[in-house]
Amino acid sequence: MKSRFTALKGVADVLPPETGLWRKILNTAGLVMSAYGYEEIIPPVIEQTELFLRSIGDSSDIVSKEMYTFTDKGGRSVSLRPEGTASIVRAYVEHNLPARPAPQKFFYSGPMFRYERPQKGRQRQFYQLGAECFGIADPAVDAEMITMVMAILGRLGLKGLSLELNSIGCKQCRPAFRERLREFFTPRLSELCPDCQRRYEQNPLRILDCKVERCGEIRKDAPLISETLCQDCRDHFASLVGFLEALGTPHVFNPHMVRGLDYYTRTVFEVKGDAGLGAQNAVAAGGRYDLLVSEFGGPETPAIGFAAGMERLAGLLRQEAAAPGPALFIASLGAEAATEALKLATRLRDGGTRVELGWGGFSLKSQLRRADKINAGSVVIIGEDELKSGKFKWKNLKDGSSGEAGREEILKQFSRAE
Ligand code: ATP
Ligand code: MG
Repeated sequence: MKSRFTALKGVADVLPPETGLWRKILNTAGLVMSAYGYEEIIPPVIEQTELFLRSIGDSSDIVSKEMYTFTDKGGRSVSLRPEGTASIVRAYVEHNLPARPAPQKFFYSGPMFRYERPQKGRQRQFYQLGAECFGIADPAVDAEMITMVMAILGRLGLKGLSLELNSIGCKQCRPAFRERLREFFTPRLSELCPDCQRRYEQNPLRILDCKVERCGEIRKDAPLISETLCQDCRDHFASLVGFLEALGTPHVFNPHMVRGLDYYTRTVFEVKGDAGLGAQNAVAAGGRYDLLVSEFGGPETPAIGFAAGMERLAGLLRQEAAAPGPALFIASLGAEAATEALKLATRLRDGGTRVELGWGGFSLKSQLRRADKINAGSVVIIGEDELKSGKFKWKNLKDGSSGEAGREEILKQFSRAE
């Protein structure tokens, strides 16, 4: 069958059982984040374009190549959001939330849009969940946020993840580093890719993030930002590392990591999954952005955040879990039995138990085959004999136990059996 319409390139439907995994990720993340004092915020998916230019930066790949930008009917330039932080910071300042006592902690989730080359783990519409914490500069908050991210991933049962850390300095020490980088790249300028030649002018730090192989080779001996950090940034980073060690959160120092967004200051981090994800293996990333709130017109407010990619998280989870089935499958033979089955199912469903029915007209054998296929926990069979005696046969498909029970007993036995 050839579908008349297909989804756009790089834009995917999320179907069951995948949607179950997504729900699980969102629920788990929500539970962990509320234990850390985060509350949900739901910003719009569309903003004025300027918001992203001023935060993510016009030298970044996202703004220079990947934005879904268009002019609306009122002649305004608007963009679909490529990430969440800019909107949260806008909302924070717009609604005067800095007036509330610090820290203010928010989490969000939803679709993001970047016009990238679609490939495994990279889409044009993808989904992120993330969090932002406003008002505290103390590196203990960096440690808390990173530990929360690792707790979400741990609670999901993900293993084999690695956490990479770096500090990219502040407005005191970064300009000197930018100059050192420029000096380093000046004699090699013609060997860099065209994008990096532009980056050299606009923001040489971006060259450190280029994915072109040759640029990677050229920058091997580039100066490291850790060598130029000011004393405050050095102390901040050392203190963060100390907290992580005290908390037992494993981490790796990656002096080459700079991240792709302009608003970061000091701490940046990235969590990588195992090889199963292929080249696109970063599942979560984040950092501190102490200047963005004031850049948006708010008071000077230190802040830190993270975002995780749902598709990549689901990809890791898919490798580990089989789709769960209903707790109970009720097979029935004949119209009267089907009515009884429907009544029983409705009462169990009212109590929250997931129940599937084998609709009449199919043989018992084919109904049981379906129960097996959808991975049901147990089956109950209702036929003419069972209706007469008032006793229904049940079987647990997981441990093989079986028996007979009246309606009320069945209700009790399978209430919230999931
Ligand atoms: P990458 O280096 O993989 O391009 P990024 O640095 O652009 O990632 P961020 O902007 O920090 O990513 O977004 C955080 C997370 O969102 C990433 O770690 C990843 O899991 C996910 N993500 C980013 N871009 C995409 C995309 N195009 N498709 C799917 N997931 C994505
Ligand atoms: Mg990217």
